[in-house]
Amino acid sequence: MISSDLLQIHWQNDLLSSIEVGIVVLNSSFEVEVWNQFMENHSDLLPSQICGTSLFSHFPEIDKKWLQAKAEPVFNLKTPVFLIWEQRPYLFKFGSNRPITSDSAHMFQNVTMFPLTSPNGDIERLCMLVYDVTDQALSKLRVERLNEEMKVLSRVDGLTGLYNRRYWQERFDHIFKLAQRNEKPTSAMMLDIDHFKKVNDTYGHQAGDKVIQALAAVIQKNIRETDLAGRYGGEEFAIVLTDTGAKNAVKVAERIRKSALNTIVEHEGEQITFTVSIGLAEYSANHANSLEWLEDADEALYGAKTAGRNQVVTKNQAWLPNASD
Ligand code: GH3
Ligand code: MG
Ligand code: MG
Repeated sequence: MISSDLLQIHWQNDLLSSIEVGIVVLNSSFEVEVWNQFMENHSDLLPSQICGTSLFSHFPEIDKKWLQAKAEPVFNLKTPVFLIWEQRPYLFKFGSNRPITSDSAHMFQNVTMFPLTSPNGDIERLCMLVYDVTDQALSKLRVERLNEEMKVLSRVDGLTGLYNRRYWQERFDHIFKLAQRNEKPTSAMMLDIDHFKKVNDTYGHQAGDKVIQALAAVIQKNIRETDLAGRYGGEEFAIVLTDTGAKNAVKVAERIRKSALNTIVEHEGEQITFTVSIGLAEYSANHANSLEWLEDADEALYGAKTAGRNQVVTKNQAWLPNASD
């Protein structure tokens, strides 16, 4: 006849074994006293191999000082402590159960540590519950990644890969505020393809799109990473050149203008060439807001158009196209 005590130990042992949560009991020296089936399955360490030895001697990935500091309130204040995967993906480096279907090689874990009180009221042990939260973690990470991608997509113009007007404007407003406080010069540039309607009418809308893309590539090649280029409208672009006064901005604009002039766009056997007009305005303290600044660049662009196109005009000053072009 089995005693009821033994029966109880037996089913409690079953409970520890079948539960899908890691159960570890540690004494104050971090020596393992209980190591349940879940821990055994995932670590390949039998209770007989790990019990009575230091936890740290088996898991070099655990930052000893960090875990001791984390566990301190459990022993000293008798309060539970939670370790969440968002802070550290895992405590024990276990393989993921789903390495084929998921994009994670390891198991994400949440860990709870709480005090175990001895009959005399002292806290000499803590119990650690290790939860496999890989599914939740991966789906949360997936959502975050998607949100990040959406954010990038919502800023970028689909045809050219440059910033779209809304985001460009937002950044331009910010740069305007910096320029108000900054000693360094900043220039704004507006750029429009000449007689673009003719490109569309002659070669078709698709060819027109290719020209817009080619110009976007020319712009990107000729500005610095710190400059901000956006597609402002159909075939209109806006660029801010940071740390650049009008004189240097003209050099950049001329580089873009010449490079556009020398670009050949192939479409259905046709070779399409195009020119651009560019208006420039350096930031000045007279600009009450970013719109006034941009209007100056737009006015200069209008000046470039009326003066015959394929040229760069700075607000209050005109550069006629080079005779050698
Ligand atoms: P101007 O030299 O005065 O700038 O002459 P323009 O013909 O370029 O005149 P305007 O700027 O008014 O015309 C722009 C044309 O660009 C009108 C529109 O049909 C075309 N367009 C606008 N967006 C797109 C686009 O995304 N793709 C294509 N292919 N054409 C576009
Ligand atoms: Mg145009
Ligand atoms: Mg236009």
